[in-house]
Amino acid sequence: MPKLIKERIPTPERPPEERVKSFVEVNLGYTFELAKQEAERCLQCPVEYAPCIKGCPVHINIPAFIAKIKEGDVKEALRIIWNDNTLPAITGRVCPQEDQCEGVCVVGKVGTAVNIGKLERFVADYAREHGIEEELLKEMAPKACGKGRVAVVGAGPAGLTCAGELAKLGYEVTIYEALHSPGGVLAYGIPEFRLPKKILAHELDKLRKLGVKVLTDHVVGKTVTLEELLEEYDAVFIGTGAGTPKLLNIPGILLGRIYSANEFLTRINLMKAYKFPEYDTPIAVGKKVIVIGAGNTAMDAARSALRLGSEVTIAYRRGREDMTARIEEIGHAEEEGVKFEFFLNPVEFIGDEEGRVKAVKFERMKPLEERDRKGKRKIVGIGEYVTLEADTVIIAIGLEPNRIITEEATGLKVNPNGTLVVDENLMTSIPGVFAGGDAIRGEATVILAMGDGKRAAKAICDYIEGKMKIED
Ligand code: FAD
Ligand code: SF4
Ligand code: SF4
Repeated sequence: MPKLIKERIPTPERPPEERVKSFVEVNLGYTFELAKQEAERCLQCPVEYAPCIKGCPVHINIPAFIAKIKEGDVKEALRIIWNDNTLPAITGRVCPQEDQCEGVCVVGKVGTAVNIGKLERFVADYAREHGIEEELLKEMAPKACGKGRVAVVGAGPAGLTCAGELAKLGYEVTIYEALHSPGGVLAYGIPEFRLPKKILAHELDKLRKLGVKVLTDHVVGKTVTLEELLEEYDAVFIGTGAGTPKLLNIPGILLGRIYSANEFLTRINLMKAYKFPEYDTPIAVGKKVIVIGAGNTAMDAARSALRLGSEVTIAYRRGREDMTARIEEIGHAEEEGVKFEFFLNPVEFIGDEEGRVKAVKFERMKPLEERDRKGKRKIVGIGEYVTLEADTVIIAIGLEPNRIITEEATGLKVNPNGTLVVDENLMTSIPGVFAGGDAIRGEATVILAMGDGKRAAKAICDYIEGKMKIED
């Protein structure tokens, strides 16, 4: 039985005063030596019991890959991770581990959980940087399961994973992506300081080497219809995500300098607005920014605005314990100087004579004992109001699927919240059309989108091979 080491080995990070001046990655990850030390903390729970495996949405054999780190065998560690997760450099950085694998780690009951995410990231980064990944890729010859042509709509984690799995199975895959750059939220949403674009570029390069074709600037439902894709391909996978921002229906919403977080982040991440005029797209950000919301999107928008030189306050209508962002991001935001205001619900945006926002009026809220269906305490306005100055507001209160495809392809059944209806094989109401990721779940996580992409690839393979029973 390994000796219990209660506290985790910290990963090196750039100091807050240095990182607020740039978009470079904050967390530097483990060195080989530190990763081995952290791996020693894993108690090697038996696979059939290990709670961390159950806590991971794609059930990676966590004790097995950690054991390989202890032995110094990064190649085997990567092989084990790849069985269930082909993008560990990404999930190791962005998974909400505290709610998943690490949230249930037994070491966490007496100390801090084993740092599974950072160990996963270490394996992926080390293997990529030392030619181990390339070696392993060469060894893993594609398994031919049958030939066919598949169109994937959307180049986010769901679409990319589905495409990669199908290509490995011997299919000819073409991705249709609406934007000028593939990656979905990984490209336009999550900023460089959390997920360097070179990691995504490397994964896209690997896909291209597998033969996957990526067509950007192709909006399915406009540039090409679903029906046209079905005529040309044996099956279609829809991974169009949930990129339509929810906005606030309150007075003043049309004032200038009120952004949705998606627009704000897209301008910064994808269009490099912070490098204007070197890059074409500008962004106007004032001195006092209020971000409304408390999820990862809110945290990313707040920390990006901070890096553009603004003073940033996050206003949330609930309390700290209900914030949905990753704990690491909340901690980083605080260290960097983002301020938090809780139990404030916006009721009006106040403008100046030029039609730009100059303040936000909030009603103070209080929590009740009663809980909603998500387990959060219900809140109620107490009739007291407070006005906070702001020359820029960023709204990050949630996202929903866009309806471009479903408005065009009326045969696709849709739930009231805009998500696509799928069966247990992830097939939509149109035979041969599969879907996964945020397009079927609403706003969820990268690993769930990837898990769907992988599951759909297997189902598509069965469908094309005629192994799937289709109900009339
Ligand atoms: P997306 O990543 O949204 O990709 C969908 C793609 O489809 C996009 O590229 C889009 O342009 C394209 N598309 C849409 N419509 C069409 C069409 N008609 N034709 C062609 N292409 C189309 N999750 C985490 O696990 N950890 C995090 O830290 C985290 N942070 C986040 C931060 C932000 C700012 C946001 C917005 C989300 C975050 N999430 C995080 C959630 C996570 O990114 C998503 O759950 C995940 O990206 C969903 O993957 P997807 O492939 O389903 O969709
Ligand atoms: Fe944990 Fe995410 Fe890796 Fe699963 S994929 S082991 S949840 S970090
Ligand atoms: Fe190791 Fe924790 Fe998983 Fe047990 S639950 S195998 S200690 S990571």
